[in-house]
Amino acid sequence: MEIRHVILDRDGVLNREDAAGGWIRDPQEWIWERGAREGLLLLARAGVRVSVVTNQSCIGRGLAGADEIARVNDHMRRQTAASGARIDDVFVCPHAPEEGCDCRKPRPGLVRQAIEASGVPASQTVLVGDAARDLEAGRLGGVQVVLVRTGKGAETEVSEQIEAIPVYDDLHSAAIDLLGIE
Ligand SMILES: [Zn+2]
Repeated sequence: MEIRHVILDRDGVLNREDAAGGWIRDPQEWIWERGAREGLLLLARAGVRVSVVTNQSCIGRGLAGADEIARVNDHMRRQTAASGARIDDVFVCPHAPEEGCDCRKPRPGLVRQAIEASGVPASQTVLVGDAARDLEAGRLGGVQVVLVRTGKGAETEVSEQIEAIPVYDDLHSAAIDLLGIE
C-alpha cells in the first residue's frame, strides 16, 4: 500500500519532552528528538504529506497561552523548512482533560481533522506516536498506527498492549520502512 500522508505526534516523536514533565512554552526549549529531522526529510523527498497532532492541555489549564504554543509550532515548522523538509499542517488540542472535548487524544478528533484537511484517504495514512493514547487516537480515526521508541515509546512498548503494531527506534527508521527504502 502506498503511504501518502503521515500523521505525527509532536512531543516524544519530533521533540524531546520536557525533562521535568512540563510543557514547552518557548522555542528556545525546543530540542529535536533522535531521528526526527532525518525522518522528515525522507518523507518530504517521497512527497508524503505530513501533519502533526498534539495535545497541549497547558492552554486549557491556564499554564500557557495559545500564542506561546503557536510560536513553538512556528519554530518547529521554520526549522523543518530550513532543512528542506516540510510540515503541512499542525493540529492542536488546547483543552484541559475535564473539558471532555473530542480532540484530546486518545479521542480521534485531531486525527480526523488531519485526514479531512489532507484530502488523502485514511487507508493511505499512517500515524506515528510514542504513547498509547496516540495509537488509540489513530485506531479510532481509522488509520494504521506505528510506535517509535523515542519519548515515552520504549516504556509504551513494554507496558501497553501493542501486539501487531510495528515498532521502530525513531522516526528515521520508521520512515525508511514505511516508504520501502532499501
Ligand atoms: Zn480538545
